[in-house]
Amino acid sequence: MAEEIKALTASAGSSGGESRPERSERPERSGPRGPRPGGGPGGSREGGRKFFRRKKVCKFCVEKIEAVNYKDVRLLAQFVAENGKITPRRLTGVCTPHQRRLSRAIKQARNIALLPFAGRAQ
Ligand SMILES: [Zn+2]
Repeated sequence: MAEEIKALTASAGSSGGESRPERSERPERSGPRGPRPGGGPGGSREGGRKFFRRKKVCKFCVEKIEAVNYKDVRLLAQFVAENGKITPRRLTGVCTPHQRRLSRAIKQARNIALLPFAGRAQ
């Protein structure tokens, strides 16, 4: 019993001579997480982003627009990219129910040529 262990340790120690670098384990963060520095929205941590982002809130919820009017081109155009595509919700911050109404409104507006299917308007 004891000899086996000896043999193992001896072989491991002498033969080969490879000394593997020990894997550095990640230092685990312990302790309670304190409040974030900066606290409020729009902290300084997002630097160098291409798009300036504020705290995302649904514009329609804020302005209490229940139904999105497909004739309101100025409003719809804010949610259409330059290539004519509807901007995804994750970029605009519009909530899901409003994004659905918005996309329908944009599609209706496209059909009556208020908005382009592709490319810039006007
Ligand atoms: Zn909303």
